[in-house]
Amino acid sequence: MDFRLSDEEEAFQSAVRKFGDKVLRPNERAIDAEGRIPDAVLAEMAHLGLLAMPVPTEYGGMGASAVLTEIAAEEVGRGDFSMATAVYFLLEAGWGHILAVHGTEEAKREVLPRVCDGTAFLGIATTEPTGGSDLARLRTTSRKEGASFLLHGEKAFVSGVEEAKRLGGGHLTLARAEEGGFRFLYVPTRSDGIATQKFENLGRMGISTGALTYQDVRVPAKYLLGADGKGFDIAMEGFTVARTFVAAACIGAAERSLETGMAYIRERQAFGQPLGKFEGIQFELVDLWTQVEAVKWQCRRAAWLLDTYTLRGDTSHRSEVTRAVASVKLTAPQVAFECVKRVMMWFGAAGYTKDVGLELGFRGVMSYLVGAEGGLNIMRIILGRELLGREFVPYK
Ligand SMILES: Cc1cc2nc3c(=O)[nH]c(=O)nc-3n(C[C@H](O)[C@H](O)[C@H](O)COP(=O)(O)OP(=O)(O)OC[C@H]3O[C@@H](n4cnc5c(N)ncnc54)[C@H](O)[C@@H]3O)c2cc1C
Repeated sequence: MDFRLSDEEEAFQSAVRKFGDKVLRPNERAIDAEGRIPDAVLAEMAHLGLLAMPVPTEYGGMGASAVLTEIAAEEVGRGDFSMATAVYFLLEAGWGHILAVHGTEEAKREVLPRVCDGTAFLGIATTEPTGGSDLARLRTTSRKEGASFLLHGEKAFVSGVEEAKRLGGGHLTLARAEEGGFRFLYVPTRSDGIATQKFENLGRMGISTGALTYQDVRVPAKYLLGADGKGFDIAMEGFTVARTFVAAACIGAAERSLETGMAYIRERQAFGQPLGKFEGIQFELVDLWTQVEAVKWQCRRAAWLLDTYTLRGDTSHRSEVTRAVASVKLTAPQVAFECVKRVMMWFGAAGYTKDVGLELGFRGVMSYLVGAEGGLNIMRIILGRELLGREFVPYK
């Protein structure tokens, strides 16, 4: 077992960290205040190969491993503490990968190069106003009609609705098939019959969240992912990949908050000595750092499992992969939130100000506690099922 990063991985990590320090940090407050990631930042991300990293080179990506993408996600989460850029990054990486694996050749050639160069957005639309956890009961329907599918229904709390309208692009959309099963369809947001609505969020303001209403939207058959009726499993595969990068981004945010906190408690004096000399604070730092370190290596292992099995289409270790991913998606947001919260308290009153900027992370990481890419209890349900068996899930 070798825990070292390769020379290429280390070089890439330091390039993304530099991008985080030089481009994301100086822009994060404006990203939050103006509600969008500047096009110049997206262009720089594209230039570094950061958009939809796992997509093969023939479709404009860099064909990156999940481990390399995980490392980059940590750095993006560290760079833009509001998490907006990390969300943009991980949506393109996770769902870009899924489109590359399951999309038709025509759809891949049309959509992916633009996602990779930052001139189109790709997101995921599964949640509906009636709920996002129990996806098997979703209500949006699709019906085959000639060479198209007619889509009818509503999605809610979907990231990137405004970005997909502004830049072009769309969402991989899960719908019930009237003929049986589920369809996972790429739906361009500018299609006729789509109305959108923007929600006012608490945090990660640089990427929009909104609703999409479909009034018999005609989706060409070329935009169907995988076999007809089998869309549910493809969406679940996508969540497994994307959740790993969510956890990675949270780890980056956790490390950033601890770095900020350590610098502060080395300097800030109380009762005649630096705060860091008080064990009440020092031990808290140590406990948090230990948790971050644990979940970071757990997350790297989850990415390694994706590379070793899932990304190769090998389902032989499905339960092991599922457990690894659900446990990091369960733990990383909680550890990150705890780090941000504790460090805010070390700063005292200053921690509550916008000047110090910890509140950006506080608001951003919170999105992963309330539900984005699956709520904490859903991770617990997945883990309970994997540990005890399907018969121990108390409902269908
Ligand atoms: C900022 C943000 C961005 C998002 N972006 C997207 C996106 O791009 N695309 C998309 O499709 N969705 C997106 N979502 C929605 C997200 O996927 C849902 O919030 C999530 O799936 C939970 O669904 P819900 O909010 O409807 O909560 P519900 O399903 O109504 O659940 C409410 C609460 O109950 C818990 N719960 C549910 N069932 C159980 C149970 N059986 N036992 C115990 N607890 C349970 C949940 O964990 C949650 O805490 C986003 C959400 C946020 C906050």
